Amino acid sequence: PKGQVRGEVLFENVVFGYEPSTTVIHGISLHLRPGETLAIVGPTGSGKSTLLRLLLRFHDVRDGSIRVDGHDLRTLDLQDLRSAISIVGQEPYLFDGTVKDNVLLGHPQASDEDVAEALKSAGALEFVNALRGRMDAQVGERGRKLSGGQRQRIAIARALLKKAPILALDEATSHLDYETEAAIQRSVRNASSRMSMIVVAHRLSTIRRADMILVVDQGKVREMGRHDEL
Ligand code: ATP
Ligand code: MG
Repeated sequence: PKGQVRGEVLFENVVFGYEPSTTVIHGISLHLRPGETLAIVGPTGSGKSTLLRLLLRFHDVRDGSIRVDGHDLRTLDLQDLRSAISIVGQEPYLFDGTVKDNVLLGHPQASDEDVAEALKSAGALEFVNALRGRMDAQVGERGRKLSGGQRQRIAIARALLKKAPILALDEATSHLDYETEAAIQRSVRNASSRMSMIVVAHRLSTIRRADMILVVDQGKVREMGRHDEL
């Protein structure tokens, strides 16, 4: 259950393929400690998003195991698991509605103050306040009235509102310039210092401050260490 999750994630020799005849994850092990930030970098197609999908149990591993707080995913209630993890995907989906509705998705009971706080931590409050109607401004179909980076920040605000112990960002700041990205990472971290984070990125600059960096390539771990060690 949500409030009690410490946010430890352990992959042990995980093997996975989308079809029986193919393998995309070739025995990956990783350890996210409670409250730490684990970064995953690697070329396109190397399996980064797949690792997050496995953590959310959209698929079961073929071999090896995944544990959250010591519990094998297969023994956890799916709803409990997914409420413990907040994920911002590579192409976050905004629906035709207001900024506020989009942030509230899944948590309609949150107050305007909560929404504003989440927007602030996601580095979105300033541009939202500049929109006509502010939080009540319409984002358009699929959020097309906003830029890619603005959509990403709305999606991060949505994820923060969930207040889950584990936050996974899959290229969630890829449309932002370096300065904005760095500022948002700091404010997200400040918003919840006890949250464990998994950050998937192409750019090394994105993950400088991570406690541990995993370099994956073709479904294998190539290197592991801190930024200054790699
Ligand atoms: P990117 O940096 O481009 O997002 P990635 O590291 O996240 O890449 P994945 O999306 O995990 O890569 O894909 C890993 C491999 O799995 C790729 O070869 C991809 O073609 C394959 N793959 C991904 N999703 C599926 C799917 N739903 N069905 C079949 N194969 C898939
Ligand atoms: Mg991906």
